[in-house]
Amino acid sequence: MANILKVVKGTKDILPQDEPMWHLLEQNASELFSKYGYKEIRTPIFEVTELFARGVGDTTDIVNKEMYTFEKSDRSLTLRPENTAGVVRSFIENGMSRLSAPVKLWYKGPMFRYERPQAGRQRQFHQVGIEMFGIKEPTADAEAILLAVNYLKSLGLNDLEVEINSLGCPKCREEYKQKIKEVLKPEFSNLCEDCQNRYEKNPLRLLDCKVDTCKAIFEKPEIKEVIQSDFICEECAEHYSQLKIYLKELNVKFKENKLLVRGLDYYNRTVFEIKSNNLGSQNAVCGGGRYDSLVRNLGGDDTPAVGWAMGMERLISLLPTIEPKKLNAYIVSNSPVEAFKLAQELREENLAVEFDLQNKKFTKQLEKASKIAQYAFILGEDEIKNNVVSVKNLSTSVQKTIDRANLRSEFINV
Ligand code: ATP
Ligand code: MG
Repeated sequence: MANILKVVKGTKDILPQDEPMWHLLEQNASELFSKYGYKEIRTPIFEVTELFARGVGDTTDIVNKEMYTFEKSDRSLTLRPENTAGVVRSFIENGMSRLSAPVKLWYKGPMFRYERPQAGRQRQFHQVGIEMFGIKEPTADAEAILLAVNYLKSLGLNDLEVEINSLGCPKCREEYKQKIKEVLKPEFSNLCEDCQNRYEKNPLRLLDCKVDTCKAIFEKPEIKEVIQSDFICEECAEHYSQLKIYLKELNVKFKENKLLVRGLDYYNRTVFEIKSNNLGSQNAVCGGGRYDSLVRNLGGDDTPAVGWAMGMERLISLLPTIEPKKLNAYIVSNSPVEAFKLAQELREENLAVEFDLQNKKFTKQLEKASKIAQYAFILGEDEIKNNVVSVKNLSTSVQKTIDRANLRSEFINV
């Protein structure tokens, strides 16, 4: 026998029984986001590698360790590890900065990161996300966060924690970075290898290290004092305090977390995360923030922007499973031609209908009907002769004869 091939490590099939959950996530996104003026965008799954090197940042884990990169005709291409860079590329390439602000775009789809697979962490996973371009005011940050919270609510997820922080602007952050480096210098040899590597290139990233020994170091009083200090400049502080006022007015509960810095290089001012207490260690369902310099860094006009992404697998793991929908009706008949015609008629009237393509025994057909359909539409010789259908409600076993002409409107009353 030939070898059985398996799905690649870190990837998963989304099977028909999982489909109702995915459909719910996508349907709610499309409906809710459009109420906030968002339009869907679909960018390619691979892009030139340089887009991510420049867009995500070459001090990030994503770019340094996690990209699926391949060569084709002398070009280096990469499967997208996230979608912000791709959306920004498209925004610039399609001249969307000429549209009146804000330009609001949303997306959903697979992302690829070469990470260690574990619960809540895959190598191919899916994100749903938004990007809003053209607004520097904190109203944009507030609306983006509100949308995330309301999307989660629409899924029945109310019990989540919103954490926010402000990273300041490149100017005020530079000073903070220096201070962090200074205070951590004596501890350098005690930091984990990743933190030692990031120390020079991206010291802020140290703050969200998940290694316990590093976390303990950041708790030391003299170090904690620097981390917790208010380093952001007056303008950034004003932006941040406005955001907090809006969130309070909108009844969005949030916690401030000075250690929240996010993994990506492009954020400034607002960053936020939404976490669940039911997800174990991979507990972030949503991450986002403001990225005012990214459009310019990728060659576009200076355009402020804010956005977020949610991990769809993590959302699904928080939701109760949904039973797949049953067919409206299964036609039970030993006359395949008549069954075919009736099925066709009903499908044209928007019902989900099947019949037995193998013309098995009546009892077998009824058995099958009770497994996969809400109603059995019985079409025996008598029924065909009298132009009626015997309709059986498969959950109550009530049966009634209905004229063919009224079938569509009356079967639901059986
Ligand atoms: P984490 O800290 O969990 O690695 P992240 O900061 O890398 O998350 P982002 O790049 O901001 O995550 O992506 C946004 C969301 O996408 C995360 O909050 C998470 O829900 C989801 N996500 C990220 N990486 C994965 C993955 N490998 N598998 C499944 N979901 C993921
Ligand atoms: Mg990550």
